Amino acid sequence: MIDTPEARFAIQVTREAALLARQVQREMVTNALTKGDKSPVTVGDFASQAVVAKRLVDHFPEATLIGEENSDSLRNPSGVETLAQVTHFVQSILPDATPEAICDWIDLGANEPGDVYWTLDPIDGTKGFLRGDQYAVALALVSKGQVILGALGCPELECASTPAKGGQGSLLIAARGKGTHVCALEANDEYWRQLKVSSTDNPTQTRLLRSVEKAHTNLGAIDYFAQAMGISANPIGMDSQAKYAVLAAGGGEMLVRLLSPDRPDYREKVWDQAAGSIVVEEAGGQVSDLDGKRLDFGQGRTLAQNRGVLATNGALHASALAALREIGA
Ligand code: AMP
Ligand code: MG
Repeated sequence: MIDTPEARFAIQVTREAALLARQVQREMVTNALTKGDKSPVTVGDFASQAVVAKRLVDHFPEATLIGEENSDSLRNPSGVETLAQVTHFVQSILPDATPEAICDWIDLGANEPGDVYWTLDPIDGTKGFLRGDQYAVALALVSKGQVILGALGCPELECASTPAKGGQGSLLIAARGKGTHVCALEANDEYWRQLKVSSTDNPTQTRLLRSVEKAHTNLGAIDYFAQAMGISANPIGMDSQAKYAVLAAGGGEMLVRLLSPDRPDYREKVWDQAAGSIVVEEAGGQVSDLDGKRLDFGQGRTLAQNRGVLATNGALHASALAALREIGA
């Protein structure tokens, strides 16, 4: 297993934040869904980022964090109620946390990336979180434009090798050159298993993973892509970077993020791709953008030099890139 101070930290804090997100979901979501209320995801996002940021400054005082959230809306008078709920959940882990300190911790993530930075998606797949489907806490460490460590906490992923829901959840850790490993999120005894991508090179047997939300991708073009590849099964819709966990564990062969027709200029956020990409690569897979270029995490808060994402088990990467060219994606 990977045993460095950074990996131990990432495992511990990703588990803590993912279990906290699940606690928020269990206490708040059922009721809120009937009212169309998005506040549980807001509360979960802020609470998760506050805990991770606070733990990070305690462990590595010099570290830079790039997080998805900032505290502006919480500091606003209209955010008082949300901040009180965030404080309630954060105090279940850090009993002395005050609302002011929580806002300050959240804002530790409002940095511009330097040469070395940590990046956090406190709840990736917010739509899945609200629907009771997949979501993930994603934490990664980047150095000189390359991800060197990544952790995914997936509370609803039963066992990473299938997209099945529920169970004990999954916790994944990957480090450059040291493989990808998984254990149960709820585990008391840490039993780690090394992950390996599927070796299938037959396109007809390919399981293709994609977003659920049509606003995040191009569902129609993904169907054309599947046809061009000769894939027989329907694509599997999953929210969040849990998709990358399933790919790494051999539960799928391919994952594609085509650009949504409404947002052709969209560029991926670093926290949406960093942990997921190293988890796939260290399990033996391959990750690039839609043009086959490697993902460049040294361009600020977005992957400004890349378009979309293609992740595969490696064996199918070249033919997938050819099919993407064929459909003009
Ligand atoms: P997924 O769960 O795969 O649909 O991805 C969720 C992530 O998609 C969120 O964390 C958002 O940051 C990101 N996202 C939001 N808008 C877009 C877009 N237009 N294209 C691609 N990704 C997006
Ligand atoms: Mg996200």
